[in-house]
Amino acid sequence: MKDLSAELQRRRAEHLYRARRIVDGPQGPRLHIEGRECLAFCSNDYLGLANHPEVVSALRRGAETYGAGSGAAHLIAGHTRAHHALEEELAEFTGRPRALLFSTGYMANLGVAATLLGRGDLAVEDRLNHASLLDAARLSGARLVRYAHGDADDAARRLDGRGEKLVLTDGVFSMDGDLAPLPQLAEAARVHEAWLLVDDAHGLGVLGVNGGGTLEHFGLGVDDVPVLMGTLGKALGTFGAFVAGNEDLIETLIQQAGTYIYTTAPPPALAEATRASLRLVARESWRREHLQALVARLRRGAAQLDLPLADSATPIQPLMVGDSAAALSLSQSLLAQGILVTAVRPPTVPAGTARLRITLNAAHTEADVDRLLDALDGAWRQVRRV
Ligand code: PMP
Repeated sequence: MKDLSAELQRRRAEHLYRARRIVDGPQGPRLHIEGRECLAFCSNDYLGLANHPEVVSALRRGAETYGAGSGAAHLIAGHTRAHHALEEELAEFTGRPRALLFSTGYMANLGVAATLLGRGDLAVEDRLNHASLLDAARLSGARLVRYAHGDADDAARRLDGRGEKLVLTDGVFSMDGDLAPLPQLAEAARVHEAWLLVDDAHGLGVLGVNGGGTLEHFGLGVDDVPVLMGTLGKALGTFGAFVAGNEDLIETLIQQAGTYIYTTAPPPALAEATRASLRLVARESWRREHLQALVARLRRGAAQLDLPLADSATPIQPLMVGDSAAALSLSQSLLAQGILVTAVRPPTVPAGTARLRITLNAAHTEADVDRLLDALDGAWRQVRRV
């Protein structure tokens, strides 16, 4: 048996130990954490919808209509009219023939890869893909190869071989904020007769004039990207995920994806809440515009202060630190000033690239961004001096 206590101790010594903070109350720019109010820059609630009154009241009404739990898997008796309506609305929103709900994005990625691939097949992944995409390839039993970050030529070189091939990529990279070169990846996939799966967890709702995400940003459709995975727990502010694609893909997932078939359907009330938030995403484009203005303000301010933000135009604005201990110390110093930004360390990011993952959301004000910049200015100089 392994010595768990020694392993935990080693993590502590290497500044890699992770601990949870207890939050009281709803998500928002101001979080109540263990008796204190903090100005937070670390949620994925990019549009500020997680606590929107229309979304919350849809959840409440959904619970009154459907109760708390779905009671069964979708294929048994858990697929309610609320789930079905949400699937139809997600299909329309993404401009795709069909959409299929999954309980989480992690499960959606596992389900797609295990359905499309098996032993003898090939999964080709960006080096910086989200952990769920890497696990998805591993679970499928296919051979996993990784290409240099954002390099579609490298991806194309790795697509030789027989059997089914699937290229998997984040649309917006979750820890870096940059975009995958989707037009080039779509072309590489087309030439090599490979599937392309785009995980747009961080683009959906945020990018594109209508919030259609990274695919709308690049003007790509279902023929370019046959498999779109979107999550509902980020810009949409609720919970869950979906896969959108053509009729045959969705029917095949319903028949075969284990992470769809063998799990309880999410609460129907949640589907009602997500329907409300989808309407807000479509209707309130000011949220995306305000968010972009905040991103521009943060980047301008950081450039003036010589703070090394990663090259990102999305609400994910990582401040690159390098060393895990320094990243932690920066985060702690901000917390002492009432600002919460979490340090992201290996193995979530590659060794030597620890960072503060700053994320903005539409409920932040310009004054909030200025306060962050002020606090960072002092904290950064202090950490760099050590
Ligand atoms: N893909 C990406 C790129 C993500 O960032 C996440 C969540 N961190 C997921 C998938 C998983 O989604 P979920 O939280 O719904 O499981």
